[in-house]
Amino acid sequence: MKPDCDLLVLGGGISGAGVALEAARRGLRVTLVEARDYAWGASSRSSKLVHGGLRYLQSGALHLTRESVQEREALLRELPGLVERIGFVMAHRRPFGPGRRTMQIGLRLYDHLAGRRARGWASNADIPWLVPGLATDDGASLYEDATTDDARLTLRVLQEARSLGAELHNHTTLTALQRDARGQIRGATLRGPDGFERSLACRCIVSASGPWLGTVATLAGAAPPRLRPLRGSHLLLPLWRLPLARAVAWRHPEDGRPVFAYPWQGRLIVGTTDLDHPDLGTEPRIQPEELRYLLAALAHSFPRAGVSAADVQCTWAGVRPVIASDQPMAPSQESREHLVWAQDGLVALAGGKLTTFRRMAQAALAAARPWLPALPLPVHHDILPAHAPVAGVPLRWQGRWGALAGQAARGALIPGTTTRWGELRHSLLHEQVRHLDDLLLRRSRLGLLMPGFAADLLPALQPLCQETLGWSAEHFRQERDRYLDRMTTTHGVPA
Ligand SMILES: Cc1cc2nc3c(=O)[nH]c(=O)nc-3n(C[C@H](O)[C@H](O)[C@H](O)COP(=O)(O)OP(=O)(O)OC[C@H]3O[C@@H](n4cnc5c(N)ncnc54)[C@H](O)[C@@H]3O)c2cc1C
Repeated sequence: MKPDCDLLVLGGGISGAGVALEAARRGLRVTLVEARDYAWGASSRSSKLVHGGLRYLQSGALHLTRESVQEREALLRELPGLVERIGFVMAHRRPFGPGRRTMQIGLRLYDHLAGRRARGWASNADIPWLVPGLATDDGASLYEDATTDDARLTLRVLQEARSLGAELHNHTTLTALQRDARGQIRGATLRGPDGFERSLACRCIVSASGPWLGTVATLAGAAPPRLRPLRGSHLLLPLWRLPLARAVAWRHPEDGRPVFAYPWQGRLIVGTTDLDHPDLGTEPRIQPEELRYLLAALAHSFPRAGVSAADVQCTWAGVRPVIASDQPMAPSQESREHLVWAQDGLVALAGGKLTTFRRMAQAALAAARPWLPALPLPVHHDILPAHAPVAGVPLRWQGRWGALAGQAARGALIPGTTTRWGELRHSLLHEQVRHLDDLLLRRSRLGLLMPGFAADLLPALQPLCQETLGWSAEHFRQERDRYLDRMTTTHGVPA
């Protein structure tokens, strides 16, 4: 009997989205289920850089840098308006390396891999006009990478997968796996948001469940390689508090780790930390020590800015699903390679980066081939299916919404942001929003970008939610309380 689908994908982060798109493009019938919301995990809580992994050169992982640089360039070409180049200024501070000479050798290679020259050098005398207030000991190296909106990138990939026939279900949990007489995994029991369970037969499952890989593996009685979940936290400040025109990177004075600050959607992101995060049962949040660490980083490089905790608008923390080396090493030294592992029809995909999601998806599907023998090899060279630009719509909305840009990019701008009311309406109607945080944290980023977690917007949002989702006034009130409570707990500034 024909199964319900060829491929069941677990996890609606960028990895699962990438697998769903790649599989749908190759003609597979795909179902993706996400236990919480699309991009709920690291894929909405990253540093939002589409980067070539300059620092991997230091550890000799040339192949990882090559792959990342190539993917960065492809994403820049294909998603203008969503993935955008940004200039970096790497301040050289003593005693931490890399020194100017080593850095310039690395940047020469970085440029070579990208096929374009972006490297440069600024002396101490150049710094005041380049980045006013930045402290350096030996000038700065200049290079380029890119930034994105991680959650919208994930949603755009999912949108493309859906347009090719993939079925997507958020707030849907896997409760059991089913095996055939030969012990191969051939289906799953899924509990939907309505609480009902249903069985779904498939040929193969790809688990792209990030750091929660162990939960799925336990259900399958399998033992894939161990992950080392590492938490990274960020601060978001109003840009006027430290007006940077480009990204700045430097070494933290306490441990020599790279840290950065850069302008993003009219605000300033400061990041990041890298700490063991063994408790996967609760939503990650910044700890007081991380706040202190990031403020100390800012004070070291921008001593006259006087940035304090009172300037921080909000925070977020994400968990990296890093493959454990099982060696006694600092978190930042663990490899950022991805892992693909397969057994009995279950393929597990973890690790890696936002930037390289296409390569990870291809690797996962190659590992799934024993259970999908008819799977064609990739025939396309682009990451996303190409669309003719929608006439008259600026790039920002083309990048975020692709073929749907004309429908979404409507209505007035929400003051102080680049989000239109039409985008919220479109998300409410077509993007499976179930909770206010789905809308304000991932479909849009208003919960981060607007002061007070966008609480002032809620009265105007209420009639829109009631009209599009059929919520009662009481339902909206419950959602509002739940949203503000969660935001304060997981995106607030620790005391
Ligand atoms: C602090 C930080 C900074 C980073 N910065 C960058 C960066 O600047 N650039 C870059 O390229 N990369 C960056 N990364 C890495 C990148 O964000 C991650 O590699 C990527 O987002 C991981 O995506 P994922 O889909 O594998 O995992 P996730 O995004 O965590 O998604 C896993 C999803 O699976 C769901 N799930 C779990 N169990 C189940 C189940 N049983 N059934 C269904 N669903 C399930 C979860 O709810 C979750 O939504 C960063 C990561 C972190 C944490």
